[in-house]
Amino acid sequence: MSFEPQRADFSVPVRIDLYSDTHTRPSRAMKEAMLQAEMGDEQGGSDPTVWALCDKVAALLGKEAAVFMPSGTMCNQVAIATHCRPGDEILAHEDAHIQGSEAGGPGAISGVMIRGLQGPRGIFTAASVREAIRPVSRYSPPQKLVEVEQTANKGGGACWSVRQLHEVAEVAHEHGMQVHMDGARLLNAAVALGVAASDIAAEADTVWLDFTKGLGAPLGAVLAGPTDFIGAAWRWKQRLGGSMRQGGMNAAACIYALDHNVDRLAEDHTNAAALARGMAQIPGITVETPETNLVFFDTTGTGMTAAQFAGKLRPHGVTISVSGTYRGRACTHLDVSAAQIEEAVSIMRQVAAT
Ligand SMILES: *Cc1c(COP(=O)(O)O)cnc(C)c1O
Repeated sequence: MSFEPQRADFSVPVRIDLYSDTHTRPSRAMKEAMLQAEMGDEQGGSDPTVWALCDKVAALLGKEAAVFMPSGTMCNQVAIATHCRPGDEILAHEDAHIQGSEAGGPGAISGVMIRGLQGPRGIFTAASVREAIRPVSRYSPPQKLVEVEQTANKGGGACWSVRQLHEVAEVAHEHGMQVHMDGARLLNAAVALGVAASDIAAEADTVWLDFTKGLGAPLGAVLAGPTDFIGAAWRWKQRLGGSMRQGGMNAAACIYALDHNVDRLAEDHTNAAALARGMAQIPGITVETPETNLVFFDTTGTGMTAAQFAGKLRPHGVTISVSGTYRGRACTHLDVSAAQIEEAVSIMRQVAAT
């Protein structure tokens, strides 16, 4: 078994990339902002642009402090390592990114256990948290952290409402647990719900944003929380090799993204709704109604697996991702236009019938 990424097929160019919002390319204007960036040594605290980004994200999320990281995965892993000790237990949805998509990091790096909670569309309730609370005894693992994912990726890009977050956080805090929010697409939720990012993050003790999803930057995520916590997180960042040097160039792209690419996420949501409506008309395909920019669908009725469907789209220059035998995902983002959505639907219709 090889774990290397498979080299892409470069012989047929991808024209309509619905694979992931991580496939966005930095725009010319974003690259200009990168060229203009003032830089220093991020690891040593002398990069002014990284400080500017961290201050901006801390203010946006209503937290005291923030730290720049190379990826969202590192934000989650550093946060878990900082919150927990080996043997501790985390409560998270069974489909959470930390559970299935971070190479076992919580176990390998922090020695923690994750107890998977259930709930439709990647969202669990305060009642299920209460149910999972163990009596404090020398037999039970210390329960330290409740983790929520906003939006819930495998839940179909579903948004936790501020009320649902409040209810879960209240139970967590009542039992001395902290709340960590994986905010990879938090700003999609803010735009879709019409709620300030700081209101979404209000009861999360720690929270991060990814800049490489719909925001369109080439690299970076920012983890925010209390000053003491961010100080302790810095040691883990250093330990894992996440400290950077002239990070300002990448921080400038992230600042550009915050200034220009947030409100436009509404377009991605409109395009996702149009894509879902179009796909729902294709015989054999059933579509989960999207709340944001992720459109999950089932190919069972076409007689094809999701991988076969994806394989047939690829020669037409269209890519989607596969998330289960019959479950596929198509994702909208700033490099996909409304016209391309229409074209993609017509190609899908053609392919589904063959
Ligand atoms: C993409 C993603 C991550 C990881 O972010 P990277 O920047 O790719 O490391 C974590 N959580 C969720 C929900 C994601 O979608």
